[in-house]
Amino acid sequence: MVKDFGKSSYMFFNRHMVDRVKRKIEIEKMLREAIKEDGFKVLYQPQVSVFTGEIVGFEALLRMKKNPISPAVFIPIAEETSMIMDIGRWVAKEVIKQIGIWKKKGLNIKPIAINFSAKQLNDLSYIDFLQDILRKEDVETKYIDIEITESIFLEKKDETIEFLDQLKSLGIGIALDDFGTGYSSLSYLTFLPVDKIKLDKSLNDKFLELKSISVMDSIISLAHSLNLKVVAEGIEDMEQYKRLKVGKCNYIQGYLFSKPLEVEEVEEIHNYNFLQNK
Ligand code: C2E
Ligand code: MG
Ligand code: MG
Ligand code: MG
Repeated sequence: MVKDFGKSSYMFFNRHMVDRVKRKIEIEKMLREAIKEDGFKVLYQPQVSVFTGEIVGFEALLRMKKNPISPAVFIPIAEETSMIMDIGRWVAKEVIKQIGIWKKKGLNIKPIAINFSAKQLNDLSYIDFLQDILRKEDVETKYIDIEITESIFLEKKDETIEFLDQLKSLGIGIALDDFGTGYSSLSYLTFLPVDKIKLDKSLNDKFLELKSISVMDSIISLAHSLNLKVVAEGIEDMEQYKRLKVGKCNYIQGYLFSKPLEVEEVEEIHNYNFLQNK
């Protein structure tokens, strides 16, 4: 009996692994096709001022046109290969082109945050690439923010800091994404050239509990004492919003106000005030 059980669980484990590898190969193929055949698009999620209800910016979030697979799944796969480099350049180009179009239409467009993978920060030529497209599309650097995650700094590499310093000196804003997950260390905030921290949804899902709320308040006031703005991510209900206002969090990004939007939807709501009807 024991032997049988051992054998079948061994086989189950194997099949599970095979399925995972198959799925990965399948997604890699989708990504390769999407790179070749213009198969990506970008959605834009508003970031809203806690105090005025105005839109202060958007986050650019990548999607595959044909497959509803989350970037939380396909980005890590792209990161394991060099595909993330092509994808990263495509996203930046697409977003900057879009800002150029919005500018020409006379829309009052706010800065757009682009997510950056660790690998992209090893490639200093990326900065020239960014500057080239910005120039070509006639878009100022103030319209661009970059979001990075703390995992980048596990090694605390000089080149990484160099890369970020260069972006910053061009006038590009830098946000530390997913704050409060994994490797969070408040000490990063003292040596990184960041302007903003983004409190992760997992932290925000818990902060209404008694003990977590003082953690939240402390993080926000620490960030403010370092001259950083705070964005709370994944905010879905009014109770969270109200408490974040008490804690003086600056901005909110979440389904409470808006999901990530298509380009046409951005154009419809770009002057909208999210507190008017709340
Ligand atoms: P992230 O940068 O932390 O982005 C925030 C994620 O939270 C987005 O998921 C957004 O749709 C989701 N979100 C926002 N508000 C809410 C809410 O109220 N409730 C819930 N349940 N979710 C909310 P998304 O678009 O699936 O992206 C997942 C992750 O994929 C991103 O996390 C980011 O790490 C990565 N990613 C997305 N686009 C890109 C990209 O162009 N380049 C890179 N390198 N990574 C990207
Ligand atoms: Mg992000
Ligand atoms: Mg995040
Ligand atoms: Mg993330």
